[in-house]
Amino acid sequence: MPTQNATLQGHSLIAGQATPGNGRTVNGFDPSTNETLEPTYSLIDESQLRQATAAAEEAFESFSTLDPQTHAAFLDGIADRIEAAGDEVVARAMLETGLPEARLRGELARTTGQLRLFSAVVRQGDHRGVRIDPAQPERTPLPRADIRQRKVPLGPVAVFGASNFPLAFSTAGGDTASALAAGCPVVFKAHNAHPGTSELVGRAITEAVNDAGLHPGVFSLIYGPGASIGQALVSDPAIQAVGFTGSRSAGTALMTTAAARPQPIPVYAEMSSINPVIFFEGALQGDLDGLAAAYITSVTGSSGQLCTSPGLVFVPTGEAGDNFLAAVSRALAPSAGQTMLTRGIADSWNAGVEALGSQDGVELVARGSDGPTENAPAPAVFGTEAATFLNNPVLHEEIFGAASLVVRYSSTEELVAAAQRLEGQLTATLHLTESDYGTAAGVLPVLERKVGRILANGWPTGVEVGHAMVHGGPFPATSNTRTTSVGTLAIERFLRPVAYQNIPEALRPAAIQDANPWKLNRRIDGTVVPAGENQ
Ligand code: NAP
Repeated sequence: MPTQNATLQGHSLIAGQATPGNGRTVNGFDPSTNETLEPTYSLIDESQLRQATAAAEEAFESFSTLDPQTHAAFLDGIADRIEAAGDEVVARAMLETGLPEARLRGELARTTGQLRLFSAVVRQGDHRGVRIDPAQPERTPLPRADIRQRKVPLGPVAVFGASNFPLAFSTAGGDTASALAAGCPVVFKAHNAHPGTSELVGRAITEAVNDAGLHPGVFSLIYGPGASIGQALVSDPAIQAVGFTGSRSAGTALMTTAAARPQPIPVYAEMSSINPVIFFEGALQGDLDGLAAAYITSVTGSSGQLCTSPGLVFVPTGEAGDNFLAAVSRALAPSAGQTMLTRGIADSWNAGVEALGSQDGVELVARGSDGPTENAPAPAVFGTEAATFLNNPVLHEEIFGAASLVVRYSSTEELVAAAQRLEGQLTATLHLTESDYGTAAGVLPVLERKVGRILANGWPTGVEVGHAMVHGGPFPATSNTRTTSVGTLAIERFLRPVAYQNIPEALRPAAIQDANPWKLNRRIDGTVVPAGENQ
C-alpha cells in the first residue's frame, strides 16, 4: 500500500509554476520497506525543459546585477523558508532515503548554514575579485590605459543533486547555493531517489524568489530521466555551467556532452573517491581498539554512503599492524548494516563487495551482520598486500557503501609506490606521531598531487563548510581539479573575469566605480586596499 502524502503535488516547479510533466511517471521509494511512495511524479519533456531554461535566461540580466544587500537577503530567505518547512522536509527525507532523523536534521542545519555563509560572502564581496590598474598617461615609452577587472556570473547553471545527501548536496545544496550566490539562475534536475524532499525544498526556494521579488526564472526544479532530460539540459544553449554530484559514469557522460556542444561549457562534477588513510608505525603504538573503533565508525556512518568514506587503509606489515587488524575485527563484529539509499545502490554495493572478495590475494578481514531491512547488507573490511594492490585496478575502485580495504606495506618505498598508483582523491589521511614525520615527509608530496584535502590523525568523513575547505581533487574525484564543491571558494566556479579598459565612469558597473558604492575591498595597482580606505 503506497504511503500517502497530502501536501506533495508531484509536479516540476518551472519558473514558479507547478507544472505537470508530459512524460512518463515515477514514484519515490522507501528503501526500508521496498514500497513505493505517493505522490506519483510526472516527468517533463524537452519542450517543458525549454520553458525552464528560457526562463532562466530571461532572469539572468536582473539577477546577475542585483545589489549585494538584496542578493544576500535572498539567500538568507531561502534558509529561512527551508527552516520553516524543516519538520516536513526531514520526515519526507527519512521516508525516501532510510537515513536517520538526527543525520537529516544535521544535514538540514548544514544546508541552511551554508546558504547563510554564502550570503555573508555576497554582502562582503571579495568574490567579485575587483582589480584596478589606474591609467598612467605619463608612462614611457607607452602610456598605460585605465584597466579594471571584476568577476561576472557565467549564466544559467544546471545542477544535478546527489542521492546520498538529499539536502546538503541536493535541491538547495552546495552547487545550487554557490551558483545562486554567484548570481546565476539555476535549473535543478531532481534526483529520483528523493523526489518529495526535492519538491519541498524546491517550494521553499520558489517562495524565497517570490518573497525577494525576483524574476521567477531564477530557479526551476525539474523531474526527468537523467539520460534524456538531464543530457538535454546540459546541451541547452542557455546553460553555461554544470554542477553535479554522483557516479563516475553519469559525471563523465555529462562531461562528454558539455565538451561536444557547439559552445563547450565547464562541468563541475564530484564523482568517485576511495580516500586513502595511511597508518605510520608510530601511530600504532597507542590505543589500537580506540583507533579501530574510530575507523569502523567512519566506514559505517550513513551506511558508508559518503563521498569521503575511508575505502582504503594502508597499515605496515609486522606485529603492530597485525594487532590493528585484530582490533578492526573486534570493532566490526557487533556492527549491523543500515538501510542503504536505494535498492539499486544496495545491489551495486553487494556486487562490488563480491567482486573485491573474489580477487586473487584479497581476504575478508571482518564482517558485521545484516541489518533489519532487505537493503541493509553487513559492512565488510577486506585485506591485501601492497604488491597485489599495485597490480590490480579492481582494488582501486570505489564501492559506494560500508566496505573498506586494508593494504599492508612492508617499506616506505612500497607505500610511496602505492600512493603514486592512486587515482585522484578527495582526501588523504595520515595517522602519525612525531617519530613518523620523516617518513611522512616523503609521502606528502606524492599525496599533494593526488588529493584535494590532506588531514592528520582524524577521519575524512565530515566536511567543514568554511572559507578554507577544499572538497575537490584530480579526476575521478572531480572533473575539475582547480576548485572545490564545498566552502565559499565554490562560488567562484560560476564566475569569470571581465576587464574594462578606458570605460567611462558613468558606464562602469558599481563594483569598479571610483566611488566604490558597494564598499568592496579592491586590489589597486597590485595592492589590496580595504573598503573604506582611500582608493
Ligand atoms: P547517479 O546514478 O550518477 O545519478 C546522479 C544524477 O545523475 C541523477 O539525477 C541521475 O538521473 C543523473 N544521471 C544518471 N545518468 C545520467 C546520464 N547518463 N546523463 C545525465 N544524467 C544522468 O548517482 P546516484 O544514483 O546518486 O548514485 C549512484 C552511484 O554514484 C553510487 O553507487 C556512487 O558510486 C556514486 N556516488 C558518489 C557520490 C560522491 O559523493 N562521490 C555521491 C553519490 C553517489 P536519473 O536518476 O534520472 O538517471
